Amino acid sequence: PAEVRRHMEQLAADGIDVVRVTYPDLIGTERARDVLLEELPRAVEHGLAFCRAVYHTSPQGDVVPVAGGLDAGLPDICVRPDLSTLAALPWEPGVATCLAEVVDPATGAPAPESPRDLLRSVLDRCADHGLRPVVGPELEYFLCEPDPAGGWRRYGAVPGVVYTAGLRADPDNHLLRTLRQVRGLDIGVLSGNHEFDGGQFEINLLHSAALPAADRAFRFKSAIKELARQEGRLATFMAKPFNDAGGSGFHLHLSCETTDDRGVHNAFDDPRGAYGLSATARHAVAGVLAHAPALAALLNPTVNSYKRFGPDTLAPWLIDWGLDNRSAMVRIPPERGSGARLELRLADASANPYLAIAATAAAALLGVLAGEEPPAPLEGYGYDTTKASLLPTGLSAALDALEADTDLAELLGKDFITSYVTYKRDELERFGRHVTDWEFTEYAYHL
Ligand code: GLU
Ligand code: MG
Ligand code: MG
Repeated sequence: PAEVRRHMEQLAADGIDVVRVTYPDLIGTERARDVLLEELPRAVEHGLAFCRAVYHTSPQGDVVPVAGGLDAGLPDICVRPDLSTLAALPWEPGVATCLAEVVDPATGAPAPESPRDLLRSVLDRCADHGLRPVVGPELEYFLCEPDPAGGWRRYGAVPGVVYTAGLRADPDNHLLRTLRQVRGLDIGVLSGNHEFDGGQFEINLLHSAALPAADRAFRFKSAIKELARQEGRLATFMAKPFNDAGGSGFHLHLSCETTDDRGVHNAFDDPRGAYGLSATARHAVAGVLAHAPALAALLNPTVNSYKRFGPDTLAPWLIDWGLDNRSAMVRIPPERGSGARLELRLADASANPYLAIAATAAAALLGVLAGEEPPAPLEGYGYDTTKASLLPTGLSAALDALEADTDLAELLGKDFITSYVTYKRDELERFGRHVTDWEFTEYAYHL
């Protein structure tokens, strides 16, 4: 209570009168309640009640957000603010945001639907082997504006604008304004740039321990979407929103801190190792390659995700790795020493950052435990199907791979895999029944 009082005094002094308590649901959507400042002690002591959101198939075959289906009566989960994560929202005066723990109201134990706890449990397994994953997230997104013809169109859709600064590609300085606002959220923003396609931007977050990196990526996505709404626009992290533009990636830079007789250092660095990488780093690469089909189910979580993959896209298509090669799924950036790391280019921006980071760390750990070397790194063009195998070509195949990957399932938790796969198979089924514009254009006139 003394700690809560101290936070409340600080918040009041900062002019805050509402705390937005948020948590990521299974698919990474921000769920929140706005709590009046004076009610914060109650929210901390008792938690806030939300409707349970583990996705299971009901006996009637519907997927409803509750264990056991509607028959279980849509029970509560308890959402407890973690006051160490309080941060004022720069664009919403008087409001601070706060991440929350999701617990079972009966037992107080972490609820299985909390992606934050899932990440924690994977990090604990890494720690058992002396490894502390370090993650740097890079997120791309498209900004859309209202289309006078209805719906949304890409903002400032000038082609060929990658790394173009200022008004030439961004007619009213969306990026500068956004960068300054998210800086105030204290989520470790390094830089922003215009991406390859008109209306597409990228903002890079600094690296840190994996849990705060996931928290920052989660808060970042929410901030970008909210700031776009303030401009009367729509920001989207969907994987491939437009037919005439590339997709949006969520590149994950991964290394591992360790402590041994050399002190605290980057376990991926070894000037005497092959490619200047330690055996740990090479095994981690091998693990990520070996588990890539299953990883896709979590890092490429929608039916749309698989439209981002393809030759010559700078998104991956094949399960391969290369030294500073952007056409490979895993790129080893040129830095060594404390900066030795891998960049997994597989995830798209729609992935739940907690699940993407947990699954990537789990695959790397499984690689370290298996102790196998990766094949020779790709040289040159990375989209040669004679040299490496294809990633899953759709969500259904990726979910099959996830279910078949028992080692990964063991690390991520079987209950989680069941909930996730059930939810996603329902999504696939709904998509499969939906008649798209493409089908009408392709068939209606001729058939
Ligand atoms: N947009 C590409 C992707 O979907 C990445 C482009 C880049 O290398 O920045 O992954
Ligand atoms: Mg990029
Ligand atoms: Mg990158």
